[in-house]
Amino acid sequence: MKRQNVTILGATGSIGVNTLDVIRRHPDRYRAFALCAHSQIDKLFEQCREFTPAFAVVRDAPLAEELSLLCRKAGLPTEVLHGVAALVAMATHGEVDAVMAAIVGAAGLEPTLAAAQAGKKILLANKEVLVMAGELFMHAVREHGAVLLPVDSEHNAIFQSLPSDFSRGLSESGVRRILLTASGGPFRTTPLAALSDVTPEAACAHPNWVMGRKISVDSASMMNKGLEVIEAHWLFACPPERIQVVVHPQSVIHSLVEYVDGSVLAQLGNPDMRTPIAYALAYPERIDAGVASLDLFQIARLDFEAPDFARFPCLQLAYDALRSGGTAPAVLNAANEVAVAAFLDRQLPFLGIPRLIESTLNAVPSGPEGSLADVLQADAEARHVASRLVRASCPA
Ligand code: NDP
Ligand code: MG
Repeated sequence: MKRQNVTILGATGSIGVNTLDVIRRHPDRYRAFALCAHSQIDKLFEQCREFTPAFAVVRDAPLAEELSLLCRKAGLPTEVLHGVAALVAMATHGEVDAVMAAIVGAAGLEPTLAAAQAGKKILLANKEVLVMAGELFMHAVREHGAVLLPVDSEHNAIFQSLPSDFSRGLSESGVRRILLTASGGPFRTTPLAALSDVTPEAACAHPNWVMGRKISVDSASMMNKGLEVIEAHWLFACPPERIQVVVHPQSVIHSLVEYVDGSVLAQLGNPDMRTPIAYALAYPERIDAGVASLDLFQIARLDFEAPDFARFPCLQLAYDALRSGGTAPAVLNAANEVAVAAFLDRQLPFLGIPRLIESTLNAVPSGPEGSLADVLQADAEARHVASRLVRASCPA
């Protein structure tokens, strides 16, 4: 069996590190061909030392020079590149079989879209790509024969619970609804009055998952689930009214699919991203992911509740943006990225996040998704408006 060459976009992040852990367990199957990061040079150098990729990518020329020097001193053959063009080159390289899309946020759009246009096997963690440009991206996947495998745990669970030919249409497959589970995050039971002054540290302390800071805040505001509703819509061609969010605090059931005969299929497992990563890497085979067996006796019970839209207004904003269509989800995503960064920077209170997103959506008119240029323009405009609103809300 030929080893698969894998490019990891976002190698130094939480998903990137978990991906390398699965690759480490299967050196006969996978080779880390290109490791792409942004700013964490030391971490990337350690990864280069262990995996000796053909290429490494960083943010800019000075960082590339620094990493290149480290690699030369260590006698590594790794060629160091920089910038967005290099990310695109690694996502589309002729020798690459699979691309793990695990950059956080809108920065992942261009290289991930390029991977689709190059007909690659794409392991998609970077949900913002589908939120911003779902129509364009899915079109590129179909037109260029790319293989798209969801890594987001819920979508991976749905993918596993659907028939393999689900792309002919959910109704044709007998699917009634998708039940998208959500942990509810760290503030599910926090008294509402206390939400106004929660800190970034509290928001990033997720009860079940260890993740990057942006997605951790998204989980705390439940914008993550809103983004995932949009993600599910595009991945499975499912209308929003057939996607039901179910709060399930234990994060053991990763999502469910309900069929017209009343059957409900689910995928369960310990909350460990190596499971969906290994599934996507090996699909349609199964490989060891290093994940412990699920101990149902220890878990003992599973709870479910309806989402609280008053507590988590971000969820409603996401459903509304999806229904508006066009560039509205791209505006939602950009405003959310600005809001989360401002919250992490202590320039915006936690409850300011949905307010900022709503004001931005009201200020930036939505147009058709059209081309990549339309999406990028909506993204830029939303960032401009949202940043101005942050500055206005926090006088220097
Ligand atoms: P992290 O913040 O841990 O990692 C982000 C990665 O992206 C890092 O390697 C970072 O590089 C890189 N990066 C950041 N900005 C840029 C940029 N402008 N250009 C190129 N690379 C960049 O995020 P996560 O791993 O948690 O999440 C990654 C994606 O996966 C997100 O879209 C998230 O929603 C999704 N996801 C994550 C899950 C999880 O469990 N973590 C679960 C499901 C989905 P550096 O560190 O060098 O600066
Ligand atoms: Mg998820």
